[in-house]
Parts: sequence; structure tokens; C-alpha cells
Amino acid sequence: MSLLEVEDLAVHFGGVKAVDGVSFAVEEGEVFAIIGPNGAGKSTIFNLISRIYEPTRGKIRFEGRDITALKAHQIAPLGIARTFQNIELFDHSTVLDNLLMGRHAHKGTNFVSDILHLPSVRRAERAHRLEVEKVIEFLELEAYRRSMIAGLPYGVRKVVEIGRAMALGPKLILLDEPASGLSVEETRDVSFWIEDMRRVMGLTVVMVEHDMSLVSRTCDRVLAVANGKPLALGTPAEVQADPQVQAAYLGASVGAA
Ligand code: ADP
Ligand code: MG
Repeated sequence: MSLLEVEDLAVHFGGVKAVDGVSFAVEEGEVFAIIGPNGAGKSTIFNLISRIYEPTRGKIRFEGRDITALKAHQIAPLGIARTFQNIELFDHSTVLDNLLMGRHAHKGTNFVSDILHLPSVRRAERAHRLEVEKVIEFLELEAYRRSMIAGLPYGVRKVVEIGRAMALGPKLILLDEPASGLSVEETRDVSFWIEDMRRVMGLTVVMVEHDMSLVSRTCDRVLAVANGKPLALGTPAEVQADPQVQAAYLGASVGAA
């Protein structure tokens, strides 16, 4: 059984077929990429998996369970975390507080025990902090833990966005363009972290990414999409060599010129 299975997934917005018949399966421990020109439907696939968008048709399964009808707030507790292409952090909170908020889905305590400061609450709080400390160490964010998000360089905010998703302690992490806007050095760091997410943390990773060298370095398999439709699925080398994929990118760059 695959960890994540997407079958004939589609969502149409009025006349726009943003995603139109996409199928793929991601195995546990795999690093999987979705590539394609701008507007291909990549972020929309993530929005469908995280149940922000309602599919027009198709099925999504996680650990064999059909999650197509679940609500967005029911997704994180299953162990699916995501980052957003446009960084969704609380700008006027610290790095530490943003990471702690990333653990929100695990809050098993209720309001009454919260205000009474019961031992169970203090224990849970300590466990949350320990998990967050692991993420801070993993992503080398020690120097920024008390910094306000708003004052941080873009590259650091991008890493905190990954940290917020990791803090959940997920099984599956969806990364939407983790390297966009980063320098060559920062992109290299991201590729090491993705490798270690799998190797050290045992995570399964699905990422949307434009940087083909990052994709080739870190990913086992790649799905290419264009105009909401799947073009090719295979190893990074196979997909890059696919004539339909090359034509889609050429069409996109000609269109953009
Ligand atoms: P990308 O591959 O660049 O991430 P997107 O998934 O963001 O592309 O978008 C794919 C297409 O779907 C685009 O044409 C976009 O305008 C459209 N789209 C995405 N979300 C919506 C929405 N909520 N309403 C209408 N159109 C949308
Ligand atoms: Mg996108």
C-alpha cells in the first residue's frame, strides 16, 4: 500500500480546468516532486490534498484511508503537513512561537484544564517544546528563536515555514517551492534538509519545485504536469528527457517572452 494515492483528481473553477485527471502514488520514505510551468496546477494539487479545495472528481487516499471527504482541519492530525508557496507565518510573533503554533493540531487538552494548569497540560506543553527544539536544531534556527518573523531575511523565513510544517511531527510533508527565491547556498541547505527529513526523520516528502538541479539531487520520482494534465512520471532524468515535458516548458517560456 502506498502512503499517498491520488486517483483521477480534478478541480474545475468555472471554465478553468486547474487540475484535470491527475493520478500518482507516493511510497513511504520516498521524495517525490511535482514539476510543471507556472499555472500548471501544482499548488492546486496540494490544496486538494490538504482539503482546502473541493475536488470536482477523483479520490485521495492516505495510508489506505479515503480522505477525499474530510475537512481541512482533519488533515494535520492524520500526519500531513504542508508549506505554502507564499510563506504563511505570523509576522508579529517569534520564530519559537510560530513553530509552537505548528503543533496546534496536537493540542489534546481542553480549555478548562488549560486555565487550571493541570499537570497533564504542563506535560503536554513540555512535550511540544521538546519537539520544537528538535526542529530548531535540525534547521539550524538557534540564532533566530526569539526573533520576530517580520524582521527576518526572506531566506530565513522560508526555512521557518518548513520548520512550522515539521513541528507538527508529520508522516508526510508537502513542500510548495521550498527553494524559490533562495540563493545557491540556501538551496543547497534545503537539499540537505530534504535528504535528512527522509534519512533521519523517516519522513515522506512531496515537493513542488522549479529548480531542476534540486529535484534531480533529492527526488526519487517526478510527475510533470501542464494545464492541469499529467505529462510524464518517472525518474528525474526520464522526465527531463520526455519530449512532451520539454515542449511544455518551451511553450511556457515562449509564452512568457
Ligand atoms: P501552479 O502550477 O503555478 O502552482 P496553480 O495550481 O496555482 O498553478 O494554478 C493553476 C490554475 O488554477 C491557474 O490557472 C490558476 O489561476 C487557477 N486557480 C487556482 N486556484 C484557483 C481558484 N481558487 N479560483 C480560480 N482559479 C484558480
Ligand atoms: Mg504554485
